[in-house]
Amino acid sequence: MKNIVLFGPPGAGKGTQAEVLKEKYNLVHISTGDVFRYNIKNETELGLLAKSYIDNGNLVPDEVTINMLEAEVEKNTDAKGFIFDGFPRTESQAEALDAFLAKKGATINAMIALEVEEDILVTRLLERGKVSGRADDQDETKIRNRFNEYNTKTAIVKDYYEKQNKYYGINGVGSIESITALISQVVDTL
Ligand code: AMP
Repeated sequence: MKNIVLFGPPGAGKGTQAEVLKEKYNLVHISTGDVFRYNIKNETELGLLAKSYIDNGNLVPDEVTINMLEAEVEKNTDAKGFIFDGFPRTESQAEALDAFLAKKGATINAMIALEVEEDILVTRLLERGKVSGRADDQDETKIRNRFNEYNTKTAIVKDYYEKQNKYYGINGVGSIESITALISQVVDTL
């Protein structure tokens, strides 16, 4: 099994790269943001719970997010591996993921991080907001709050994987193809 955490701040290009990589390496892509948005659209209990957090650019509480992630993994018993996109975003989530995978005799093989400067990200997100319709992409205050959440709660998750020698930083500025090539250089060694 190849299990990859695709990491980086909002707008770094995780979703775009995950879509390419899942085909290339035959992996299942789980985006916690996408699962939340699906649940919001379908007005499920989970969606109703998550909506106010997401709309304001805050993280959804760990327990809810971890349970949801585990359920998504369990739906894919035949998977050759997973690309986790947008998860883990806190140290508790990273610990829970390790414990959960260990029970299955699996592990995270690498955290691949897309590194992009914040000013570039704000511009990208506002552009994306024009087409995605995502409320959290259309308002600079909400975007700044997502960066604040990232910087205070998520950025440290890098240390968690660095300690395990599993962290790979990639320059996330460039064409989609050139960034896929950089990521592939890492994935091919796993
Ligand atoms: P994303 O699509 O990854 O940018 O996620 C959109 C929003 O979903 C985030 O701003 C959070 O509110 C929520 N979210 C996604 N993944 C997580 C997570 N792992 N932990 C907590 N909240 C999350």
